[in-house]
Amino acid sequence: MWYTYLCSLNKTTIMEVYIMKKFECTACGYIYDEELGDPDNGVAPGTKWEDVPEDWVCPLCGVGKEDFEEVS
Ligand SMILES: [Zn+2]
Repeated sequence: MWYTYLCSLNKTTIMEVYIMKKFECTACGYIYDEELGDPDNGVAPGTKWEDVPEDWVCPLCGVGKEDFEEVS
């Protein structure tokens, strides 16, 4: 009985961990990684995609955020 309880407890803990997401430029394949950010262009490591400025563009090809897709 206590074992089952511990298992369900672990599952809850895992669910609560925020998973860093990655987004891929559909034009050139550049990957924006939330964990790494884009420090060369003023985006600090750990910046969530929704917190990246709307005027940020792909450092490789210059397209905007709307041309990025989430990598699963
Ligand atoms: Zn690009």
